[in-house]
Amino acid sequence: MSDSIEKVKTLIIGSGPAGYTAGIYAGRAELKPVMYQGMQPGGQLTITTEVENFPGYPEGTNGPEMMEDLKKQAEKYGTDIRWGEIVEADFSKRPFICKADDGNTIEAETVIIATGASAQWLGLPSEKEFNGGGVSACATCDGFFYKGKDVAVVGGGDTACEEASYLANITNKVYLIVRRDVLRASKAMQERVKNNPKIEILWNHNTKEIVGTTQGFTKAVNGAILINNKTNEEKKIDIDGFFVAIGHKPNSDIFKGQLDMDETGYINTIPGSASTNVAGVFAAGDVQDHTYRQAITAAGSGCMAAIEAERFISEQA
Ligand code: FAD
Ligand code: NAP
Repeated sequence: MSDSIEKVKTLIIGSGPAGYTAGIYAGRAELKPVMYQGMQPGGQLTITTEVENFPGYPEGTNGPEMMEDLKKQAEKYGTDIRWGEIVEADFSKRPFICKADDGNTIEAETVIIATGASAQWLGLPSEKEFNGGGVSACATCDGFFYKGKDVAVVGGGDTACEEASYLANITNKVYLIVRRDVLRASKAMQERVKNNPKIEILWNHNTKEIVGTTQGFTKAVNGAILINNKTNEEKKIDIDGFFVAIGHKPNSDIFKGQLDMDETGYINTIPGSASTNVAGVFAAGDVQDHTYRQAITAAGSGCMAAIEAERFISEQA
């Protein structure tokens, strides 16, 4: 498809749990939704293996397989799922105009933004090497795998403190690696971390490398080399899990200036709904949620967005 203008009732941008769930609901409501999958078809869960906390899978499931199932379910109800991403959006008038990188221009009565958020990473080669094999950016997702073991969390904000406290309930010991001599987190969160005997804060430390073993496709972390940025001293900590919690960036750049957002770029939705400040444009999943960031909450808000899109279209008719 190229250089054409296509009229659709509902355009879904993104193919994570929020996008596919929106597709299932919008498809069943006969909205004939068109979805652009973006550069990561299936979203963040395609880079993890086990998912144990999505309801309906008592034995757990595998991230890529679960997303393939969601995709099939969305397709079954008529979602037209396409390769490529949306590169431009104009929400200044209705129908909304969105341009895709395949040259197609979409005129949409409603748009559901489900573009997710990406974890910020330290940028170390070893962090990439052990990602999914000892390195994670989600304690709620992966903490369980480190029951009774020693782990490290890097970061000094509310997320890092929250992750460290969560992990302290599961693991044997948590090192909190902080690059300055203060925490950025709220006072209450700081106190929680400082008063937890299972958390050791390593002030003024940066991570030089994460170390571990590789056997075929199986990778395991067994330590991290840290540098004290005041003394230049190096030391190794023995850990099985390394959690990066230095912030997330919502994938909302192309909507800047058109939708209300917070200072980080999370799209503001009206509390209890998926509506943005532009009537007919909805946001679901991590792109509008800096609190929960879970597959089930993303899926739930994708459902809300599709139901609201259907009602919006009905009200206009
Ligand atoms: P995402 O899954 O981030 O998907 C965003 C989608 O938007 C992608 O398909 C991307 O290609 C697309 N996109 C972005 N920009 C564009 C564009 N311009 N045009 C078109 N498409 C675009 N949660 C759990 O509940 N349980 C777990 O066990 C769990 N494990 C995790 C493990 C890892 C390693 C990570 C990183 C996350 C994990 N999470 C887990 C969190 C969970 O993956 C997210 O909360 C969830 O995927 C968010 O869904 P989403 O649909 O909002 O966005
Ligand atoms: P954040 O507030 O931006 O904090 C990021 C932390 O990571 C900072 O301590 C920063 O250090 C550190 N950092 C950044 N880059 C780093 C690097 N390369 N190496 C080492 N450390 C690095 O992010 P967040 O903690 O994810 O919080 C985001 C927002 O959500 C905040 O507004 C927060 O209050 C909110 N939030 C609230 C709650 C809650 O209330 N329960 C929970 C989670 C998040 P510096 O301090 O040195 O810059």
